[in-house]
Amino acid sequence: MTKEELEARFPDFVGQAFGPPETGPDAVNEPMIRHWCETMGDANPIYTDPNAAKSSRHGKLVAPPTMMQAWTMAGFPMSAGYDEPRDKQEELHKLFNECGYTGVVATDCRQEYTRYLEPGDTVTAHATIESISEEKATALGIGYFVETRTRFTDQNDIEVGSMVFRVLKFKPAQQPQRPASSDGAPPKPGRIRAPRSFDNGWWWDAVDKGHLLIQKCKECGVLRHPPRPMCHGCHSLEWEGVPSSGQGSVNSWVVLHHPPIPGYDLPIAIAVIDLEEGTRIVANIVDCPLDEIHIDMKVECSIEEVEEGYMLPVFRRID
Ligand SMILES: [Zn+2]
Repeated sequence: MTKEELEARFPDFVGQAFGPPETGPDAVNEPMIRHWCETMGDANPIYTDPNAAKSSRHGKLVAPPTMMQAWTMAGFPMSAGYDEPRDKQEELHKLFNECGYTGVVATDCRQEYTRYLEPGDTVTAHATIESISEEKATALGIGYFVETRTRFTDQNDIEVGSMVFRVLKFKPAQQPQRPASSDGAPPKPGRIRAPRSFDNGWWWDAVDKGHLLIQKCKECGVLRHPPRPMCHGCHSLEWEGVPSSGQGSVNSWVVLHHPPIPGYDLPIAIAVIDLEEGTRIVANIVDCPLDEIHIDMKVECSIEEVEEGYMLPVFRRID
């Protein structure tokens, strides 16, 4: 199917409902609210403590607004699998897949809440395909942004909130080709490269220059790794990268024998290293007989080009 033929099909989808409205399998209920709050670390007592809720402006327990969509989601077994489209959105995704736009990534989600949900409410989702963009060139590859809008209603058919969700369906960009070996064998696949983002690119840039850094909170001094924007101790967003000595010891390790993974020579030792500064890093242990690796084994970091153009910290035994 050509691009023009694909785009000619879009009007069959834009403005269409996914299918019939979907009512959540369970009414809003206290156990699910408690599990959500525990998982999300939300300690607001108006969600879980009846006494605190009574003296709040709600006068009773309410559900966290961000649970809105969760009340309408199908369980895992019902949401697994893509072979036969069960609704208009899946039909659209299947069409994209058939045309080579096999990648999918969620790009943004906006939710609005009209009222707090409370135990006993039942929630129904009414989802429609709102728009499909022109073909766009993105860093991931060329593709189309598909925007869907979901209206959430309660048992009285009154709207309680809405959500706009956007995904990019894209043709994955070609990976750089590796040269064939001199004997004409097909190019050897490379290792899986760590993704670099706004939040961790600085750490990898330092590795490229041969430095092992640790992220340190500028407010409370707590160290953290892998890099991330916020301190888990004090929630500060201020941080700096401080040099590590590279000295450490094995906290735990595994040796991977199977399954084979393209780009890796097995068996390979993967360890959690306690760095002497007080944080941990996951890395390979090299040049050590695999049956001699043990907990508390002293190791030292070396940053090496493990394949052309890919610098990685690895650890060697020093005791
Ligand atoms: Zn902190």
